[in-house]
Amino acid sequence: ARERYLARNPLSLARWLEAVTVMPGGNTRTVLHYAPFPLAMARAEGCRLWDADGHEYVDFLGDYTAGLYGHAHPVIRAAIDRALEGGISLGASNMDEARFARAVCERFGLQRVRFTNSGTEANLLAISLGRIFTRRSKVMAFNGAYHGAVFGFAGGGSPMNLPIETVLAPYNESERTRALITEDLALVIVEPMIGSGGCIPARPDFLAMLRQETARVGALLVFDEVMTSRLAPGGLQSAVGVKPDLTTLGKYVGGGMSFGAFGGRGEIMDRFDPRRRDALPHAGTFNNNVLTMAAGLAGLTEVYTPEAALALNASGDALRDRLNAACRAADAPLQFTGLGSMLAVHATPDPVTTPEAAAAANPKLKELFFFDMLAQGIWLARRGMMTLSLPIDDAACDALVAAVEEFLSARQSLLD
Ligand code: PMP
Repeated sequence: ARERYLARNPLSLARWLEAVTVMPGGNTRTVLHYAPFPLAMARAEGCRLWDADGHEYVDFLGDYTAGLYGHAHPVIRAAIDRALEGGISLGASNMDEARFARAVCERFGLQRVRFTNSGTEANLLAISLGRIFTRRSKVMAFNGAYHGAVFGFAGGGSPMNLPIETVLAPYNESERTRALITEDLALVIVEPMIGSGGCIPARPDFLAMLRQETARVGALLVFDEVMTSRLAPGGLQSAVGVKPDLTTLGKYVGGGMSFGAFGGRGEIMDRFDPRRRDALPHAGTFNNNVLTMAAGLAGLTEVYTPEAALALNASGDALRDRLNAACRAADAPLQFTGLGSMLAVHATPDPVTTPEAAAAANPKLKELFFFDMLAQGIWLARRGMMTLSLPIDDAACDALVAAVEEFLSARQSLLD
């Protein structure tokens, strides 16, 4: 399989060999690297991508949820074109930011919102705000979670991580977590479904417990909905019926441009009001970038309407059911977890309800699955994550199901 990959992708290899001389490992976004070298994509349209060597792929990665609108969606493109006419960087408040803020607040049930350039920044600001607001320093986060590039509690121990005093709790384990929620906690930050860590939904009673216990000890509850805000019209929180104090957003909400946002209760967010004597500073040259404001506004109000959100997630549910039925029919130790338009493949027959269960899967089989999908023209994350974008149609879903069935039959000997 490795030989075949090398022979098939000479121009991707050439690009990578050039890239390693100027970027560490040829890479400027760690998640995009995989051995022996990553494919380079040359262009995209709708839900299709073409790599440097001209192979065509159906885009089932959707840029890790950020690509919800597909490639160069006409409405988003028109909004960006219009914004471009008026200049790129105004260094001033501009005409779209409050409209976009209103759309975001109404959609996700926030009283006030502020924009950033990434989900990482949104979480940084939400965590800092929560610590200042509660006058406490300790933060609870969960094993297997991801909240951005600078947070050590997500993936363990990098020396680059921020020195935030952290309590690491076991995701989806209510009793053990409850015992760790004490009166010195500033906040609990949680993904209502673990995204990058393998599309593992939180149990509704686990989230309800977090809401109840944080309220009891006077800590804030922060939902990181950077990925999951796409899963229901008002974010995943609207579907599970648990209301956090603060919510962080990112990815597709900026229309496909660099984006992050954090918001929630006015009483907390208003610590940023510059008219206050004790106002907290929140800077960022591109926080109200006109292209992002325009693209995000058009996307949320004209394209990814509540109705569109329901339809996209229903088709994700139907696709996941078909894929899991194929795995069961082949009696294969493979399954697809997730909710709505987010899926992750796990090479284990056992239920994946915790990050530990995901870590117990067979890495070799997942690797084979990944390279087999590439050879069959399916683009997905090396770690097995897939997301639906709006241009994904029945033909695209059929192509994925057929590719998975082909993998299951061609690899039968390995699966036994
Ligand atoms: N939170 C979650 C849940 C994420 O999935 C990500 C990105 N994968 C982030 C935060 C960080 O967002 P960004 O990459 O925009 O900094």
